[in-house]
Amino acid sequence: MSVWSPITELLGAQGVMAAWGDFPAQFLTAVDGLAAAIPCDRGHPCQMHIVEHGPDDFVGVCSNEDGLCGKRQVRNKERVVFRLDEKKLFEEILQSFGGKSVIPEEISVRPRVSRIGGIPTTGDDKLPVFFALAADLSAVDAAVKALLAHGAEKFLLVVPEEKTIGIVQQNWATQHGGRIVGVDQMLEVADKGVVSARTSGLEVVLTWMEKSAPKTLRDADGARFPTPPGTKWKDVTVTFKGRDIVEIKCGIAKAVTRERLHIPGMVDATKTEKVPTDKWFLLMAFAARGPDLSMKELERFYASNNRDMIKKQKSDLSRALRVYFGIDAEPIPYRNREKFYRPELTIREDDNLDLEVWLEGWLKDR
Ligand SMILES: [Zn+2]
Repeated sequence: MSVWSPITELLGAQGVMAAWGDFPAQFLTAVDGLAAAIPCDRGHPCQMHIVEHGPDDFVGVCSNEDGLCGKRQVRNKERVVFRLDEKKLFEEILQSFGGKSVIPEEISVRPRVSRIGGIPTTGDDKLPVFFALAADLSAVDAAVKALLAHGAEKFLLVVPEEKTIGIVQQNWATQHGGRIVGVDQMLEVADKGVVSARTSGLEVVLTWMEKSAPKTLRDADGARFPTPPGTKWKDVTVTFKGRDIVEIKCGIAKAVTRERLHIPGMVDATKTEKVPTDKWFLLMAFAARGPDLSMKELERFYASNNRDMIKKQKSDLSRALRVYFGIDAEPIPYRNREKFYRPELTIREDDNLDLEVWLEGWLKDR
């Protein structure tokens, strides 16, 4: 049992919290109505049926013939039913490798296979990304067949768990320029249900992209930084030399200069213009106003007190840095005691530079 297995194990991807287990709550939505039965405690395979004694007085009775678990009081909130919020899950998966979501388009019913997004390449082309609600090897097999029958080429197929991907199926995908990955390869669930992208999963996708669409990486996403093995965040220094240029130094290796344009995630390329993303300006803010930025300072920076938005922006920046440098640890952690973000790496501006001008301009345009 992995945290992701309830996606396929729960009928209709619905169940009470006890049935979802450690599944990240951010991908769940409560539905109307209360469950008539909930899983028994202590991991028993049996179920407790709910007997209503009064409006808020429920007793769960184990349905096992031998009364394996007996009875106990059940609270109302234990009966709330949650369903998988696919939109949120897909969004998180796509973000982990820089994909963009589309309104899901179903191409097969059993198992359900849907096109959920694409990875931008040059021009208007996109590498298609599919999701298959496939619980086991034979379902993944059927999903790949459905994709090939659909004429899919150079596709990324996401299935709930890596263990259900067989060698034969992966080979079929490869023959058509495709690749199959598990959600568990792409996303990691840490303590308290915090979800983050796995660098190792990203490596898999990047390696596939380098083969299937070599231009993608070069033109749309740039290349990754040649970080020396064993580099830790404390060894990394990013110095702004201009609005769009940074100098990067890793440990004793020679410093190199990089343009924003060549750093993945730091640019939004439209047809006419290549605009710096909010991530780039946040990096700039750490350089100009850091090293520490408190929540208050960030509220001023964004001219907003939407803390969820601010946390999201910060985590997007962290993710982009992890991807670019290939370092797994969190680069800009929140220090609970001091109540501020302090980067593990050094982010600074050149002595002759004043980034404030651009930061103010950005806020005005935002
Ligand atoms: Zn029981």
